[in-house]
Amino acid sequence: MFSLLNTLVEKNKKYGREGKVASYIPALSEANPDELGIYVVDSRGKEYYSGDYNAKFTIQSISKIVSLILAIRDNGRENVFKKVDVEPTGMGFNSIVNLEASDSGKPYNPMINAGAIVTTSLIDGKDVNEKLEKILEFMRTVTNNDDISVNERVYLSEKETGNRNRALAYFMKSTGVLDGDVEEILDLYFKQCSIEVTARDLARFGAVLANDGVIPWTNEKFIPKDVCRIVKTIMVTCGMYDASGDFAVKVGIPAKSGVGGGILATVPRKFGIGIYGPSLDEKGNSIAGINIITDLANELDLSIF
Ligand code: GLN
Repeated sequence: MFSLLNTLVEKNKKYGREGKVASYIPALSEANPDELGIYVVDSRGKEYYSGDYNAKFTIQSISKIVSLILAIRDNGRENVFKKVDVEPTGMGFNSIVNLEASDSGKPYNPMINAGAIVTTSLIDGKDVNEKLEKILEFMRTVTNNDDISVNERVYLSEKETGNRNRALAYFMKSTGVLDGDVEEILDLYFKQCSIEVTARDLARFGAVLANDGVIPWTNEKFIPKDVCRIVKTIMVTCGMYDASGDFAVKVGIPAKSGVGGGILATVPRKFGIGIYGPSLDEKGNSIAGINIITDLANELDLSIF
């Protein structure tokens, strides 16, 4: 496996030159587009890696999986899906038109910004700090990494420039989909997006989901199996934004991307996969990341379909 990963990193690095690092959050524009790293954790917890697997980056939209899991844990699945649907959008992750067009006023799904702002708003806690601590604790457990924390520079950069997310949130407040203090909800959303991780952290989290919520290295049942199933299903239909259909055909693995360049993928009962490649395609997915996981899925016959 190590030599396969080395070969695939060398082969796919070049794609970094064909995309662009995100710049709409100014602090993200400093990333090196040539970096590419991959980390794989199998169902017994054995780990394989290559390339820039140790590089740190912010989790961004991959945190949407965490807020969905915690929202379900705190409210039950019916109450969560009263506020957010589970349908693909065919539109960009920060689309505004979609929100007004939806009959119910609910965001289409929890993997776009509007949907994640709703799931974040449903996490219980007395203030932003307590809610953030719950998110960080969850992340530390599923990554086996006590150092997980927020990158303050990215957080402040996103908070300063996040007007599109403000527009989505205030619109949802006006329609009654969002309850509570909008600025506080956004503050927590910006913080959760700015949690710093490596490809290894994402691979371990992916391995927990692959293992139906049981942590491979402790055997603790951490996430209920039915919640894992819901999350993995929504990852297939919506996890790669409006490229999810193409990704399902080409790769066929539940996955979630973020504009920091990360991809978390989870192959049921087999592997958790974490990828870092900050250069993005026009949909906001890691360009070298998509290419390397396509090759890996073909080599190991990983498609779930
Ligand atoms: N923090 C980013 C935003 O809200 C997350 C988007 C993403 O990773 N696609 O715009």
